Amino acid sequence: MMPVADLVTSLTVQPEGENLTGLTREQLATALEATTIAPRSRSMRRDQIWNGLYIRGWRSIDDITTLSKGLRAELVEQFVIERPEIVHEQRSEDGTIKWLLRVNDGREIETVYIPEETRGTLCLSSQVGCTLTCRFCHTGTQKLVRNLTVAEIVGQILVARDVLGEWPRPTDNRKISNIVMMGMGEPLYNAENVRDALRIAADGDGLAISRRRITLSTAGVVPVIPWIGREAEVMLAISLHAVRDDLRDELVPLNRKYPIADVLEACRAYPGLSNARRITFEYVMLQDVNDSVADARELVRLLKGIPAKINLIPFNPWPGAPYECSSKTRIKNFADVISRAGYASPVRTPRGRDIMAACGQLKSASLKLGARRRRLEAVREVSAAS
Ligand code: SAH
Repeated sequence: MMPVADLVTSLTVQPEGENLTGLTREQLATALEATTIAPRSRSMRRDQIWNGLYIRGWRSIDDITTLSKGLRAELVEQFVIERPEIVHEQRSEDGTIKWLLRVNDGREIETVYIPEETRGTLCLSSQVGCTLTCRFCHTGTQKLVRNLTVAEIVGQILVARDVLGEWPRPTDNRKISNIVMMGMGEPLYNAENVRDALRIAADGDGLAISRRRITLSTAGVVPVIPWIGREAEVMLAISLHAVRDDLRDELVPLNRKYPIADVLEACRAYPGLSNARRITFEYVMLQDVNDSVADARELVRLLKGIPAKINLIPFNPWPGAPYECSSKTRIKNFADVISRAGYASPVRTPRGRDIMAACGQLKSASLKLGARRRRLEAVREVSAAS
């Protein structure tokens, strides 16, 4: 029997050349060493390509009109410019847009755009599926998991800009002003690719999204928290959801490995932490599970001394979920304790619930799979069973 990986590869359409999207500036320079571009003009060519990819939004090497025809012809032989393909787009009544995107091996991920009065936020996925199995999260019920490549993470931004018509990249009043790594997956289990993707997103001569407007959310992979702070210098959000280890063990099983005290210690030491750069603590409101006034008081006590924002997230239901969203009164009572302790407007308005685009509702279910994907899954299942 052929190993699964080989079977999958043989059914996968591989790109013809190396994808220029998702290479760091250094990698792009190295890639150009394999061409006839003279060493002295390499950095200029690299900058032209970078500008084309991330300011002008080029979708193919033929679009790079700042390069000569001859050079383009040479590059086409070796490279491609590729991004994920839109399989399906859904628009919510509230303006939220959710895209189901197909990546190279046929797997699917979801990306969500949330427009607001003063900003527009793009919520990116870091993995196909997720291994964390948080009990209240739909994504965790999806079996297949793999890390996304840098190109697939950056590609989500490019696709969103294509649809929103944001090329060439505007300098102000941008539709996409903020990025949150809060889609499918645990970003700190794919930390290097996420780091590279966020560096590309923040590059001032490219996509130019300010690091202060990029937030990475983690369930608390403690050893990687200081690393990502140093390497990517982005804002941090922690999916806390409970104030006692016994309950958090159940809701966020990663807590058995990295308990609350360890997570908070890593937060206190987060690079760049200050009152102007606070950590966001996400707290999902589950009726009669974690939403008492005593829980709220304990939350305030735990966070003492950490420059923090608290984000209460009304639980977003999904088919078969074992929880209910807390009642309005319970959310209000909980929020009152928080705001009396000095934390401002903490309830996150659910966005895109009607299209299952809200927090924890993302799941590219097998129902959505195309025929080719289903065949591929069948091969995997057969081979796993044998
Ligand atoms: N794995 C990362 C990134 C996911 S972010 C993390 O855990 O932080 C998505 C956020 O939505 C997390 O805070 C997650 O706990 C929360 N969430 C998951 N399911 C939810 C649901 N059904 N309703 C509301 N929030 C949910």
